[in-house]
Amino acid sequence: MTESDCLFCRIVSGEIPSKQIHSDDASVTFLDISPWQEGHALVIPRRHVADALADESVLAELAPAVVAVGNLLKERLGASACNILTNAGADSGQEVFHAHVHVIPRYADNPGIANLRGPVESDLDEVHARITGKGR
Ligand code: AMP
Repeated sequence: MTESDCLFCRIVSGEIPSKQIHSDDASVTFLDISPWQEGHALVIPRRHVADALADESVLAELAPAVVAVGNLLKERLGASACNILTNAGADSGQEVFHAHVHVIPRYADNPGIANLRGPVESDLDEVHARITGKGR
């Protein structure tokens, strides 16, 4: 996989649009296009790394953004908790082979690991505006 073939590298470069909610020197965070819960976000490294086990420092580089994003989602969306997970390798369910951490806000009316994968109907523009404070 080269960077030009990689979907998430193309999101980092801005070639493919995304609903960005956070960025820092090491990472970019945007809303998942098929959210499991309202506000489901993906924290990804700016540099291309195939998965979280392919490089010993990538998870540490993403950690500050994961904490900032989790707290942002709690504050702006009224989430009471978050699931934080990463899939590393195809048999784990990884579909995009550029490392990413799922930050999945959870709500009191739908708690628990058994309900992690929604179902949720979510207007990404509306959710993005609530998180960022920017108009639609
Ligand atoms: P994983 O299964 O861990 O590889 O997760 C990949 C995630 O990327 C899935 O939850 C997809 O819904 C999400 N995804 C795929 N394409 C896009 C995209 N263009 N913008 C935002 N999220 C995406």
